[in-house]
Amino acid sequence: MSTSMLEVAGVLVSPDHYIDGERVPSEERFELFSPIDQRLLGQVAAGQPVHVEQAIAAAQRAFPAWSAMTAAERLPYLDRFAEEIGRRADAFCTLESNDAGVLLSRMRHGVVPRAMLNLRWFAEHALGLQERPIDTEQAHHRVRHDPAGVVVIITPWNAPLMLSTWKLGPALAAGNTCILKPPEWAPLTCSLLADAAHAVGLPPGVFNVVQGIGATTGAQLVADPRIARVSFTGSVPTAKRIAQAAGANLVPCSLELGGKSPFIVLEDADIDAAAATGALMYRNAGQVCLAGTRFLVHERVAERFIAAMRTTVDGLCVGDPRDEATEVGPIIHPRQVERVLGFIDRAVAGGAQVLWGGQPHPFGAQYVQPTMLTGLSQDDEIVQNEVFGPVLTLQSFASDDEAVAMANGTDYGLGGVCYGDTAHAIAIADRVRTGFIWVNSFGIRDLQAPFGGIKRSGIGREGGDWSFEFFCDVKDVVVPKKPFRPSFSHR
Ligand code: NAD
Repeated sequence: MSTSMLEVAGVLVSPDHYIDGERVPSEERFELFSPIDQRLLGQVAAGQPVHVEQAIAAAQRAFPAWSAMTAAERLPYLDRFAEEIGRRADAFCTLESNDAGVLLSRMRHGVVPRAMLNLRWFAEHALGLQERPIDTEQAHHRVRHDPAGVVVIITPWNAPLMLSTWKLGPALAAGNTCILKPPEWAPLTCSLLADAAHAVGLPPGVFNVVQGIGATTGAQLVADPRIARVSFTGSVPTAKRIAQAAGANLVPCSLELGGKSPFIVLEDADIDAAAATGALMYRNAGQVCLAGTRFLVHERVAERFIAAMRTTVDGLCVGDPRDEATEVGPIIHPRQVERVLGFIDRAVAGGAQVLWGGQPHPFGAQYVQPTMLTGLSQDDEIVQNEVFGPVLTLQSFASDDEAVAMANGTDYGLGGVCYGDTAHAIAIADRVRTGFIWVNSFGIRDLQAPFGGIKRSGIGREGGDWSFEFFCDVKDVVVPKKPFRPSFSHR
């Protein structure tokens, strides 16, 4: 029995789970709405304990054969998987634009090519992984990276396709079998991923999708002692729950969490360039973990910077993400809109001044004006907490030391941006306590580089070798060079 397909803007997509190579329906469902206009997109399967059990059992059954393959044998599967995503690019773009509100143009030119690369790059990179020799006088060490087992992947709604493939790529390439729990506010491209995997003949059970609500389906998955790894991207409160559940079984977790990253503009910065980059912080309506949302601007250039950024922001087109001209789309959910506006209201009630924006956007119920607040102190709620909407703050500083202290003065430590004379900006960037920081630029990512945060922004790194370190068990096979003579005295 399978549930009928959902039709979203002409694209057919299954609302069911994908377990052991088959679609598995669920009597329990949840309603899915579009952030564009709040229309009901359909009912999606809400995973129950039986589905979690089926998925874990299927992934366990598939593990021996998949993990026994060499990386070279797994590569063609992942290569074809990537190609299939490309073949279905229009469907992926339409779905994620409709259920997550991501700009159609960004899906087409950024997200889909990156999703394909996530699978291909890690599959190729895994070829160099299998064994690393260490030669010493005494012995030859064969350091192996063995697949860990059944991996649970949990992703958030702001970038479901990109983040799911970013984790699936290395996990599958290393020989693990996977269970993906998509975000309940934007689950459709993860479902389509299952179709792509199926179409290219990925063996049943190697990749499973269990749809459902985080607090129930997600919680059941991460608490299961048969799971070998949990890779999570999402919010801090959820990460704490996951870490507790996985910790009870001593299961390693990779936690990529929120941010409140500084965007530092030094006195010697190219102000127009900094302001143009600053406006990018409204991308995806500010629902971007790595955005620099706290502007720290040298007091002598603050006025010029504000004027330059205001000009760019005034020209931003807020609207329907399916429209080519749109630059800032909707907020994912009415609850998130309420949260974002609540932050603005409390800040203004506390004395903050609105430089621009500050109101719901007339385009629709789930749209908020690109906003900049100032007149804040370091311990204000909006300076300390992630808003995850198109709301930025601006504070000024008088010296490098003050800028660094303010940059480091939150519990987060994910990213950062620093504009200034290059040597000066690098010197400041080196002092900011964070997982990564861009100098005179923003958003440059490479799959070889580590990604993740410190403090409340997360535990662990993914990307490049760091992904494989997480998704593998490292084993040292030690072979002595001379015949081994047992001795209690170690002479
Ligand atoms: P969230 O924590 O509410 O949910 C993320 C995922 O966790 C969803 O799939 C949800 O169903 C699941 N989940 C919820 N409760 C669970 C539980 N108890 N057990 C297991 N799974 C559970 O986050 P969100 O609101 O979907 O996403 C926004 C957050 O994600 C922001 O804080 C943002 O900064 C962060 N984020 C971080 C990165 C990064 O790489 N650092 C990237 C994107 C988003």
